[in-house]
Amino acid sequence: MSEPTATPHTDLSIRAAELDAADELFKLRERFALPEGVVYLDGNSLGALPAAVPGRVADVVSREWGELLIRSWDESGWWTAPERIGDLIAPLVGAAPGRIVVGDSTSVNLFKALVGAARLVAARGGAESGAESGGEPRTELLVDATTFPTDGYIAASAARMTGLTVVPVEPAELPAALGPRTAVVLVNHVDYRSGRLHDLPGLTAAVRAAGALAVWDLCHSAGALPVGLDAHGVDLAVGCTYKYLNGGPGSPAYLYIAERHQAAFDSPLPGWNSHAEPFAMSPGYVPADGALRGRVGTPDILSMLALEAALGVWDGVDVEAVRAKSLALTDFFLECVEAYVPAGRVESVTPAAHAERGSQVALRTDDAAAVMKELIARGVIGDFRHPDVLRFGFTPLYVGFADAERAARTLAGILAA
Ligand SMILES: *Cc1c(COP(=O)(O)O)cnc(C)c1O
Repeated sequence: MSEPTATPHTDLSIRAAELDAADELFKLRERFALPEGVVYLDGNSLGALPAAVPGRVADVVSREWGELLIRSWDESGWWTAPERIGDLIAPLVGAAPGRIVVGDSTSVNLFKALVGAARLVAARGGAESGAESGGEPRTELLVDATTFPTDGYIAASAARMTGLTVVPVEPAELPAALGPRTAVVLVNHVDYRSGRLHDLPGLTAAVRAAGALAVWDLCHSAGALPVGLDAHGVDLAVGCTYKYLNGGPGSPAYLYIAERHQAAFDSPLPGWNSHAEPFAMSPGYVPADGALRGRVGTPDILSMLALEAALGVWDGVDVEAVRAKSLALTDFFLECVEAYVPAGRVESVTPAAHAERGSQVALRTDDAAAVMKELIARGVIGDFRHPDVLRFGFTPLYVGFADAERAARTLAGILAA
């Protein structure tokens, strides 16, 4: 860890040094190129730069593009990058190979997932479908009322297109809101504002028991904690790769399609890249098998291959160990805040219970925007969320306990001034 200002030898700073010394993930920080003197607690918005990325991007540009030119679609594996990189993300979210495809933004993948889910429900016949069995038709798209805004906007449009009605529901109220009219349910795994972790296994089971489909947004969980998509029977999921997966600004997102839905998944964006025989250039559309049918058009190769290189930081890393360190870091940060910050100046909106906490701490305070500006000026980078939230994201691969202590101490200094 860098020490830009002398660290006072408080009990907490001594403990931080001991915790870092005992941390088996501490050395992973060497896989990143982080500026000296900065405590980076915004990896839940833009992950840090993995050290292998600049060289790989330079090679893709100068050799694969510059020299090999069009041959690279085959010879450099460009064409198959979306599914190959999907298979690199798969173990991080508990998916088997062949279930994840990379490309487009999270917003676009949400559109594919939600319309695709509505079509799966509509296409189901027999006893499973309320309408077919003489019951009520499934007309409702339940949407996490605390969702990141883009999910809500896309859900509203997907509902209009598929004839569903959006029903906003607080995640805690979901089990009670499910019923014979529920078609699809969209939930954010971790609330981007508060850092609250929702119960993916329990809610997915409840959604499926109600005969509906569960779509999960993993933007704030993938790369920070185990997800278990296959094990928990998730139907569809999306996530971005520029947060805890460190893919770089605007790096492509991904779509997960459970194996049992792949044969019937009917993408609302059936571009030629998802065709069974894209180079047959035939006028009729025939979807490819598997998660490939989540592809749309020509992939953004430069971003995609930067992401592939970035995923190398996960070599040999156990997501369970990442989760354990994440909880220890957020616990320790909260303890330091409690010890250093004048009483009553901040209030944590992040759940204290481990089972309900993602990998960030959100603190509510007056003047949050000005406080964050000053924190950044002092080398502690977090972010501000309207109207009064300071967000601190803890990426266990490159954040240490001394970082957490320094962040809390710097915050206390600002709030005491
Ligand atoms: C970051 C984030 C997004 C971002 O969507 P983009 O299409 O990549 O801009 C969407 N949903 C959630 C829950 C997020 O946290």
